[in-house]
Amino acid sequence: AKTSGRGRVAVFDPAMRAAVVERRALEAELQGALAGDELRLVYHPVVDLADGRVVGFEALLRWHSPVLGPIPPDRFIPVAEDLDLIGEIGAWVLREACSAAAGWRSRYPGAGLTMAVNVSAVQLASPDLVRQIAGALASSGLPAGALVLEVTETALVRDPEGAAEQLAALRALGVRLALDDFGTGYSSLSYLRQFTVDVLKIDRSFIATIDGAELPPIVRGLVELGRTLDLEIVAEGVEDERQRDLLRDARCEFAQGYLFAAPLSATDAELLLLGRTVP
Ligand code: C2E
Ligand code: CA
Ligand code: CA
Ligand code: CA
Repeated sequence: AKTSGRGRVAVFDPAMRAAVVERRALEAELQGALAGDELRLVYHPVVDLADGRVVGFEALLRWHSPVLGPIPPDRFIPVAEDLDLIGEIGAWVLREACSAAAGWRSRYPGAGLTMAVNVSAVQLASPDLVRQIAGALASSGLPAGALVLEVTETALVRDPEGAAEQLAALRALGVRLALDDFGTGYSSLSYLRQFTVDVLKIDRSFIATIDGAELPPIVRGLVELGRTLDLEIVAEGVEDERQRDLLRDARCEFAQGYLFAAPLSATDAELLLLGRTVP
């Protein structure tokens, strides 16, 4: 960087410049992504470890830009938040996920299928969220109890009081709440005291530590904590059979991960439901 007049710093660093150009391109393309039909949802199965049954799905957003190629959600969602596009995109995700779930529940009754949708910090702070969710439930016919909203600690930490109010309003609709990436934040335990949730999702960084003959004590502790607090536990990122078996032996109820399936298109998710069980 080089100092130009009046203390302003001009950016000449080529790497920084490239990052700025890339960000601009991303912003420009993202503006038209929703209208251009470039967004898709994929569905990641949630499996009951006791019997291998698929009990639900988590909706995950995909963007394939015709100009930039596929961009992972971790990269474009923060941009959508900055550009104030997340409200519109989030509303679309909710409608799409709820209507897919309602269709699967009617074609596969008895499975009690649930649908989980991720809600970012900016979405959680929006006064529009409750209305969006009520609208998605009403237009799809999905029962509120079948919808799980996944929030992270990061979303709660910014404005704990506002978040608590918002979560209470959401629970009043009858939807369930999951604490996502549990254990990775700074104060996971104090959040459990402060916020009422229904589900804990153990972050996959913990699951990745399972590689011996026994469950590592922290993972065992997280599973037991969930049981003690009467919360559903979902282990994220289960990639091998040993991890699955040790979690099942510890009576962890649910899991997701590449061992069972990659995130699936709506068509493939439905094919999985036809077969019902996974490895
Ligand atoms: P997340 O909610 O923690 O989602 C789990 C991520 O881990 C997904 O990545 C999933 O594909 C990946 N994953 C699942 N199983 C495995 C496994 O066995 N091994 C490994 N290594 N990875 C696994 P993805 O789809 O790239 O999503 C990344 C993040 O983007 C999500 O993290 C979530 O925070 C955010 N996200 C995705 N879709 C949405 C959305 O519709 N709205 C919002 N607000 N955020 C979203
Ligand atoms: Ca999630
Ligand atoms: Ca997660
Ligand atoms: Ca994550």
